[in-house]
Amino acid sequence: MDVFDNVKKQLSQINSIMKLSDKEMRLLLTPKRIIEENLEIEMDSGKAKAFQSYRVQYNDARGPTKGGIRYHPNVTLGEVKSLGFWMAIKCAVVDIPYGGAKGGIAVNPKELSEKELERLSRAFIKAIYREIGPMKDIPAPDVYTNAQIMAWMLDEYEKLTGEHSPGVITGKPLELGGSKGRSFATSQGGAYVLREYAKLHNIIPEKTTVAVQGFGNAGSHIAEILEGWGYKIVAVSDSRGGVYDKNGLNIKSLLEHKEKTGAVKGFAAEISNEQLLELDVDILVPAALENQITKENADRIKAKVILELANGPLTPEADDILAKKKTAVLPDVLANAGGVTVSYFEWVQNLYSYYWEEPEILEKLERIMVKSARDIFDSAKKYKTTMRTGAYILAISRILAAEKLRGNL
Ligand code: GLU
Repeated sequence: MDVFDNVKKQLSQINSIMKLSDKEMRLLLTPKRIIEENLEIEMDSGKAKAFQSYRVQYNDARGPTKGGIRYHPNVTLGEVKSLGFWMAIKCAVVDIPYGGAKGGIAVNPKELSEKELERLSRAFIKAIYREIGPMKDIPAPDVYTNAQIMAWMLDEYEKLTGEHSPGVITGKPLELGGSKGRSFATSQGGAYVLREYAKLHNIIPEKTTVAVQGFGNAGSHIAEILEGWGYKIVAVSDSRGGVYDKNGLNIKSLLEHKEKTGAVKGFAAEISNEQLLELDVDILVPAALENQITKENADRIKAKVILELANGPLTPEADDILAKKKTAVLPDVLANAGGVTVSYFEWVQNLYSYYWEEPEILEKLERIMVKSARDIFDSAKKYKTTMRTGAYILAISRILAAEKLRGNL
């Protein structure tokens, strides 16, 4: 199945409300530039090995294209295209001056040594460095990439161009021009969105249970933040399985356990990833990969609220089923936009060569997330639709307005 089919379905649904012209639809359905390169690197054994890589610069009407780079064995062009499209929507939702892009390499990074990972990351930049830049296209971390990988990529870019240029990539280590707050920004932003929703729907943290699928950057930080706010985190999982405790898991100890053993397994009663999604909890936080809730299991989801920290965790069919069940879905393009928002702050700090303290960053992030959440709640209400569709209508109107002003429509 091609993930881009999800985008096509989402857009045709939006079209039925927005009544877009053929030209507008074509523009939204077509990435501006696709770079594909087979990267050959030397493995530690001395043998060469090739990995397929992609960078999709989807839309740049509102600014330089922006979006992370994913390392995952299942990366495909269709997935990277979809993620690039969602980035364009996301940046428009929070109204930051960027278009959307995404990159990916089909690789299992857990099977590579540190040196091989570095060689692969540098090879990717060698392949795309002419097409990226602080005013062109700005990569960042995504699934299984991190600040160290961003550091190698920045270094390679600067070696090839002969200039210091920290604004070419975000999610960097602090020592190389990273931003305070970036490491937990995705989850912090999601927590602000949830708080706005909770205010309107009388959700009391102490009486609310949460399950988190995924315990990487987004999943582990949201568990920590929500636990700190009084929510009861009853289940979390990672790629190797999940753990459950109806009295609530101690996230700090769980993090130590994962640090020591490499997995959450063994910390509490075991459950599978599928069971976690279907738990009888108040809030479900998918924080792993796309297509986790589909027409097969959507009916069995018991959570009343879904906070999408992953990109694309629900298929359009699942969206329809959940809408009928009145499950509230706080959509990815809003719920996980805190990451790219602090990436934007990082880029601004790089361009100014002037750095802000964490409280200033969190205050700015909060302002953007609260305003965007309210805008989307209002849009959904106005069009009597889901929050995802409300967000898409707002974002697509902004993108098309920019295209029109540029004379492209
Ligand atoms: N990969 C993150 C996302 O999907 C962050 C992108 C960025 O900071 O550019 O939103």
